[in-house]
Amino acid sequence: MHVTSNNTIKGTQWAEFPDTAGVPLVSDMSSDIFSRKLDTDRFGLIYAGAQKNIGPAGVCMVIVRDDLLERVPDYLPSMLKYTTFVKKNSMYNTPPCFAIYTVQLVLKWLEETIGGLDNMERLNREKAERLYGFFDNSDFYRGTADADSRSIMNVTFRLPNEDLETKFVAEAIENDLGGLKGHRSVGGCRASIYNPTPMAAIDALIDFMKEFEKRNG
Ligand SMILES: *Cc1c(COP(=O)(O)O)cnc(C)c1O
Repeated sequence: MHVTSNNTIKGTQWAEFPDTAGVPLVSDMSSDIFSRKLDTDRFGLIYAGAQKNIGPAGVCMVIVRDDLLERVPDYLPSMLKYTTFVKKNSMYNTPPCFAIYTVQLVLKWLEETIGGLDNMERLNREKAERLYGFFDNSDFYRGTADADSRSIMNVTFRLPNEDLETKFVAEAIENDLGGLKGHRSVGGCRASIYNPTPMAAIDALIDFMKEFEKRNG
């Protein structure tokens, strides 16, 4: 069974993973890996592109259970088999050394500056809850995800109409708040608040939202 742990477009996230009754659980965790504690024993395979919470694009992290490696069919091409990379210690072909080095720096920051996943999760929840709490008390901004599926990485929201949303995104950029346009497939607005986003950025966004509402509400 495959689940994508966090949906960046709809701003939803699996709060708890399903019980698959022995069926191997596979997850694409590209957009929320290392954002919260994780019981890796529950998964057959986890994969994550580095480009959101781990480091630069060009690296992919994979955690795979040994017994699943034994089921990799021989007929798969070498480059498409995880066994190839396991046997060669991830160096079957030349790895992107500089990108991997940068990943090491990010992981050092996560462990030493942030204080590990416990603290990262606490900070991420605090950031997200500050925004969702603000929406819950507003008649102007409305969060789009159901409360029990809200993502702590991508906070999606709407304004009263699309004209106001366009104006909001444009004026936000003038106030150094970029990237607030929602994904083109769903419209609306979105604040992506991955691991490196500091609390000060959340507060700056909320201050701007209050001020925008005052002028347009
Ligand atoms: C970000 C993301 C993508 C898109 O990857 P990009 O290469 O950054 O465009 C695909 N799948 C998931 C689950 C993602 O989080």
